Amino acid sequence: MSGYTRPLARLIEQFERLPGIGPRTAQRLALHLLRQPEEQIRSFADALLAARSQVGHCRCCFHLSADPLCEICRNEGRRNGQLCVVADSRDLLALERTREFKGGYHVLGGLISPMDGIGPDLLQIQPLVERVAGSGAHAAAPPVEEVILALTPSVEGDTTSLYLARLLKPFTAVSRIAYGLPVGSELDYADEVTLARALEGRRAME
Ligand code: ZN
Repeated sequence: MSGYTRPLARLIEQFERLPGIGPRTAQRLALHLLRQPEEQIRSFADALLAARSQVGHCRCCFHLSADPLCEICRNEGRRNGQLCVVADSRDLLALERTREFKGGYHVLGGLISPMDGIGPDLLQIQPLVERVAGSGAHAAAPPVEEVILALTPSVEGDTTSLYLARLLKPFTAVSRIAYGLPVGSELDYADEVTLARALEGRRAME
């Protein structure tokens, strides 16, 4: 990187590693930070380290959480018999923004993708089956009456939805959200109205 003094070049390189950040944005962010008081920089660095060391996964739904149980799982009011299955925490947050869904979630940690070597055993599918079947630690929990699959309309999303429907249907009703979205698009990029409609228009899986 020419024209930059070494420590600045190093900082710009770090920003360039982040998703969605090109060289120009990386430069703008680095120069912006250089103008901040040292106190501000220190608290920025602290926040990064604290998030990295303190945030783990909820032991029930596998959403990101600093506590053993996340805020949603701790909320009694959200145990209404509905469970929404998502690929990752980003999709959960997108659905939360719609304020339409009042039940619980289950975060798979990805989608089945044989091409990438991701089989069902690498995802949180077994804990989902236990939750829905009310076995093990979930014996005292209210029954799951409906599982709503909110997975992207892609080959991986379809494969995972069919796989889950087959596993879960002996225990509960299974539906899948309807999409007004182009094939392959991510939940995260859908606006709130589209996502709320997709949830509303969900269909039972045959
Ligand atoms: Zn949770």
